[in-house]
Amino acid sequence: MEDCGRRSPSAAGRAPRTGAGASRALSALLGGARWAPLARAFEELIDAVYPSRCLVCGAGPAQAGACERHQLPAGPGGARCGRCAALLAPALPDGARCAACRRDPPAFRRALALGDYRERPGLRDWVLALKHRARPDLARPLGGALGALLASAGEAGGEAGGGAVLVPVPLHPWRRLERGHDQALLLARAAAAATGLPVVRALRRARWSAPQGAPGAVSRRANVRGAFRPRRAARRRIAGRRVWLVDDVLTSGATAGECARALRRMGAREVAVLVVARA
Ligand SMILES: [Zn+2]
Ligand SMILES: [Zn+2]
Repeated sequence: MEDCGRRSPSAAGRAPRTGAGASRALSALLGGARWAPLARAFEELIDAVYPSRCLVCGAGPAQAGACERHQLPAGPGGARCGRCAALLAPALPDGARCAACRRDPPAFRRALALGDYRERPGLRDWVLALKHRARPDLARPLGGALGALLASAGEAGGEAGGGAVLVPVPLHPWRRLERGHDQALLLARAAAAATGLPVVRALRRARWSAPQGAPGAVSRRANVRGAFRPRRAARRRIAGRRVWLVDDVLTSGATAGECARALRRMGAREVAVLVVARA
């Protein structure tokens, strides 16, 4: 089990801040609560001398680890499809189904995203940096924000969260080699640290599939058909469980749908999708 222990959910808020770290060290050195006011004053002094910088672009001063452009949103905003989180036509209420989901319901129950890929250039910067600019460190604040999103949707604890597991969308080994890290796995681990839910690497890529850039939903679906296989050893950890499929971006839903079908075949009670951005 890949349980990373419990940490409090937060957005970019866990960014290391020079002042806070130093004041904690000072507080520990001086031994406890009696010195807390002094430690706080020291933290303020350090912050004044070295204002914290944005984790993504380095601009400062930053609030909770991010400049204004790179503040993490807490949801995509606007009226969204209750199944796939696509932006709905203006006449439809939030939570209704989009035309595509009415025509052909996806294999997953719902999708949660921090924000919209096109509408939020700042969020796009986070995703691109994590994915292509060798910034695996960004997975931690993003995963923390995903954990907070689950909690705010009432999906992290109690009846809804009980027994749920996080499953990263697997990256092809060649792509992992090329990139040096697996962003979905890093996000799942960070969300696990924030929520206490376990990570199960339930799926593997059976074959290489071209990047999801090809036009047309049908060709996208054909592109990923049969691309994911169950990991035999994970089967008993998926059977009867609620699964959150974790990835960086949900685009056409073809990849998520194919993963959801594979997880349902492994006995998952239901599958939902948790992503940084809805494209
Ligand atoms: Zn920034
Ligand atoms: Zn939809």
